[in-house]
Amino acid sequence: MHRILLGTLIVGMSGCKGGLNLFSVQDDLELGQQLRDEIASDPVAYPTLERADAPEAYAALDAITGRVLAANGIDLRDELAWEFRIIDDDTVVNAFAAPGGYVWIYTGLIRTLDNEDSFAGVIAHEIGHADGRHSTEALTRVYGLGILLDVVLGNNGAGALAGDIAEGLAGLEFSRANERDADERSVTYLCDTPYAADSVAMFFEDLGESNGPTFLSTHPAPANRVEDVRQLAVDEGCSTELSGLTDFQTLRDSLP
Ligand SMILES: [Zn+2]
Repeated sequence: MHRILLGTLIVGMSGCKGGLNLFSVQDDLELGQQLRDEIASDPVAYPTLERADAPEAYAALDAITGRVLAANGIDLRDELAWEFRIIDDDTVVNAFAAPGGYVWIYTGLIRTLDNEDSFAGVIAHEIGHADGRHSTEALTRVYGLGILLDVVLGNNGAGALAGDIAEGLAGLEFSRANERDADERSVTYLCDTPYAADSVAMFFEDLGESNGPTFLSTHPAPANRVEDVRQLAVDEGCSTELSGLTDFQTLRDSLP
């Protein structure tokens, strides 16, 4: 009887933000690590570009992510892993984040853009999802807290569960509230970098001109997204001058 009640309680809580209190930042890291390993072992679903095979591209990516991660305002900067990987699939215009600061970017998204600030905008947005623990929240909504804890604790069937979760990770949909939060976080972070603070607005405008990007189905747009981002940058007194940096060109030109 007690066990049933407890199960009901956990399932009941898992749909709301309160469930996050039962899942620690350390759990985010554990879960993210397992999902990272599952993704690395599934080159058919996720043809990851290895660092050794594209050192120049990764050096350029590291330069960009490093500038964003050096910014003030990232709550869990010192706690999360902050590992970025490129998935070699030009047909997918998407990026996604696992709990714990693990982020993947498709070559299809990189090839869609031509401006470093626009790319820094989407990187800051994905960092915002991890920093705001939105990935944990979204996974809890889909799978329930009990299953996520089973994976973290290595309970029966944890390996298969981790595989299932990894398979769906690129298609995991955030709530509009989380999208708004990731947009706002991106402005706060970028305000303290050489990049234009409202870069994510430019990213969404650039995406709008490409054909049916997956990104917009997994990152549903809050109302007035572009206008709100631009206004927030003004309200926070941030620079919206383009950086003029060229690491992104190096990244895109050195893709295989
Ligand atoms: Zn998003």
